Amino acid sequence: MRVKQIRRWILLGRAESFDAMSDLPKDLRAALAAEFTPLGTTIRKHLIASDATHKLLIRLHDGRHIECVLIQEDRRRTACISTQVGCAMGCVFCASGLNGVERNLTSGEILEQLIRLRNLTPPSDRLTHIVVMGMGEPMANLDQLLQALEVASHKDGLGISARHITISTVGLPAKMLRLAESGKQYHLAVSLHAPNNALRSKIVPTNEHTGIEAILQAADTFYAKTGRQVTYEYVVLGGLNDGPAEARELAQLLRGRQAHVNLIPFNDVEGLPYRRPTTEALQHLVKTLRQSGISVKIRKRKGSEIDAACGQLRQQVQREAMATAGTKM
Ligand code: SAH
Repeated sequence: MRVKQIRRWILLGRAESFDAMSDLPKDLRAALAAEFTPLGTTIRKHLIASDATHKLLIRLHDGRHIECVLIQEDRRRTACISTQVGCAMGCVFCASGLNGVERNLTSGEILEQLIRLRNLTPPSDRLTHIVVMGMGEPMANLDQLLQALEVASHKDGLGISARHITISTVGLPAKMLRLAESGKQYHLAVSLHAPNNALRSKIVPTNEHTGIEAILQAADTFYAKTGRQVTYEYVVLGGLNDGPAEARELAQLLRGRQAHVNLIPFNDVEGLPYRRPTTEALQHLVKTLRQSGISVKIRKRKGSEIDAACGQLRQQVQREAMATAGTKM
């Protein structure tokens, strides 16, 4: 009974201390507080952008850091969460993988990001959507992620509909097939970024071993099993993957598939040589895809002044820590 009460307090009652759990006996609250904390992480930095995007830098029990973001638009409250400390995929334009992966997050650490972000919303609000698009490759930590999402989507948990939960992957076919088999209605987003293997392998190093064909096949199976349309994400890198030839090739690749394309203009990362695309290049991509009957959107930019794109705040804090260590020596 007590466990149930405590779970309710954390998941529904927004309690961040045992003391706030007013229907627990006072001595039990004190005894618990002497040994435990309801949440195992702490907030190291909290940034708020003018468009009401919040970004948290969260400190884990072992001193490592992860990032998560709350994006607010009309009545939508979207949590963007991480699944790993760092990332092993090494996509050339991404800040999360600059120093490789340190470890997987536990299901508790994944869930706590959602609780922390939900606790930032007014009491009458709840999270409506989740995008697993923070640091890390979700499919490389699928078991822990699925456990956390089970609680997130449960009516006695955070009550977020599975259909409003998007898992974004670099494209690990075996894991995509496992997700398809799970019978869950999660939405799958595949980070494609290039229409052919030569270019994709330059941008997404893991493509060398995987190849676009196996990824598209796994995505088609996901659609067949779940009935859920797959989104293809395409980070648009000025002068690299945004020319008329790539636009044509991308349209050809996806034509006839139940696919939606999200074009994501590159977000600048300090120290990386890539640039944002021109408006003309973006518009040409959109036009070419639409002419082939493919649904396409340009991702809106949110929270840009707080470095909301994944991995950037952690990079900054690591640099600061290194600079401080440097002055001490
Ligand atoms: N590992 C997963 C989830 C990570 S990030 C994946 O690869 O999908 C979610 C999306 O943000 C991915 O499509 C990723 O390519 C994109 N992204 C990462 N860094 C970016 C940047 N600097 N600018 C624009 N999009 C970026």
